[in-house]
Amino acid sequence: MACKMCKKRGKNWEGSDPNCYFDGDDNWNCATVNAIRDICGDWGETPGKGVVKMGVEDENMALVSAWDCDLGEEDEYPSCLYVQWYKRRGRTEVLLLLGEGMNRRPTEDELLMIINHRGFNKGVSTLESSTDSP
Ligand SMILES: [Zn+2]
Repeated sequence: MACKMCKKRGKNWEGSDPNCYFDGDDNWNCATVNAIRDICGDWGETPGKGVVKMGVEDENMALVSAWDCDLGEEDEYPSCLYVQWYKRRGRTEVLLLLGEGMNRRPTEDELLMIINHRGFNKGVSTLESSTDSP
């Protein structure tokens, strides 16, 4: 089942269909994940506040601070979101919520909370859609 942001955006480009991150292991052009990458400075802009980004060759890696975003289940203490993608391709290779003794896939609600918390200073809104295609 596609995420809320994918449903809202729909498909607004020619070419391959999107493959929502929440529909399976693979993902391509998921609107929620794209919004996370916008916060990470996917397009070469300065990453948002609370984001550290580095690149090795064409591989991009970012740590998004999440300790203050009220995430996690009971007895979990998520501190950051790790994001990894190649060049500006539409597929995001790794998305992991990390914390004390934990690392797992983030839920849609958790990503939306991070976007709401970290995205405002980047002009990223959960109500907007990212229109970039690889
Ligand atoms: Zn999606």
